[in-house]
Amino acid sequence: MAFNTLDNLNDITGKRVLVRVDLNVPMDNGKVTDTTRIERVLPTIRELSEKGSKVVLLAHFGRPKGERVASMSLAPVAPSVSRLLGKAVGFADDCIGPVASDAISAMSNGDVLLLENTRYHKGEEKNDPAFAEALAANGDLYVNDAFSAAHRAHGSTEGIAKLLPAYAGRTMQVELEALSSALGEPVRPVLAVVGGAKVSSKIDLLENLVSKVDMLVIGGGMANTFLAAKGVNVGKSLCEHDLADTANRIMSAANAANCEIVLPADAVVAREFKAGAENETVSLDAIPADGMILDVGAASIQTVASKIDTAKTLVWNGPLGAFEIEPFDTATVAAAKHAAANTKAGKLNSVAGGGDTVAALNHAGAADDFSYVSTAGGAFLEWLEGKELPGVKALEA
Ligand code: AMP
Repeated sequence: MAFNTLDNLNDITGKRVLVRVDLNVPMDNGKVTDTTRIERVLPTIRELSEKGSKVVLLAHFGRPKGERVASMSLAPVAPSVSRLLGKAVGFADDCIGPVASDAISAMSNGDVLLLENTRYHKGEEKNDPAFAEALAANGDLYVNDAFSAAHRAHGSTEGIAKLLPAYAGRTMQVELEALSSALGEPVRPVLAVVGGAKVSSKIDLLENLVSKVDMLVIGGGMANTFLAAKGVNVGKSLCEHDLADTANRIMSAANAANCEIVLPADAVVAREFKAGAENETVSLDAIPADGMILDVGAASIQTVASKIDTAKTLVWNGPLGAFEIEPFDTATVAAAKHAAANTKAGKLNSVAGGGDTVAALNHAGAADDFSYVSTAGGAFLEWLEGKELPGVKALEA
């Protein structure tokens, strides 16, 4: 997909640029406790400010559902943005109307201003055209740097992009380029590693991946549903027995699309779901009736490593086992480290994200060596499902 970036901007001196950012940061007692999201939007803010435009930030915070809920004000976030940016950041108490337009009129070139929570207005989540017009009235250009909000067709992510010249910010651009390199026009063979708790939350994702990748490793609790569908007795493992038909359908679709599905060949079983629980590695025909599969076994880890070695591109979502409790993090950690090493050696393009995946890769100490780790959550998963993201679509050149 072709989209405009900041490289397509000419002279923007004095222009009012409305920049959609993700400032939905974790807070405790009015203080920001994790600044990752703020750091990600700094390059775009800095670049636009240095080019002499008036940088007006649009963002949501929490779910106030169209009401002015004081605890969901963005006011306490402005000082954190300012500190990290190394520059004053103003704040206006509303994102539309005279409060916003007066504050913008008072800006000098290069200034940065944060507007109050867009979700204080019902029109935001409804994507009400009147609300989008009220937002757009305060800008000459629109830049979207919030991939994590791009799966929602809201006023500040989609509606406004149709009313002003629209551009992808630097963080959005990097994310879109990484995703495109993984599933858009990837270097083959492409391997997908999908784990996590349940098949039910990832049916669309699995169906999309089997049509796009060459190999699909299935691990985690969800592999149990596939194994059970193939007649393996999985004992007391987490398993959605009612989804046997779905699992069979996905396996047939993979077969038809020439996608090799790789299921675990052995399992680490325990009687209790807790750290340090007594465990043993068994073959699939020897899973005890009172046992729970909490990780894939050593033989499966070997197979995953060899698939990673075969692949030139890797897409990863979900842990291979119950990685939060040791030693059931073993397979996830081993596979993550292997993928990280291959990436570092220039042999693999590795893109990961969604839900617990970021935590799992951080736990393995592997996240920094992946080519790209998306922190976008829902938007990343919808992309893995092959869905069109309205906030991205609206940036199409
Ligand atoms: P998800 O959010 O779908 O990616 O699922 C992540 C969760 O799946 C983590 O909390 C893991 O502990 C859990 N999980 C992975 N493998 C297993 C397993 N074999 N049995 C139970 N839970 C698992």
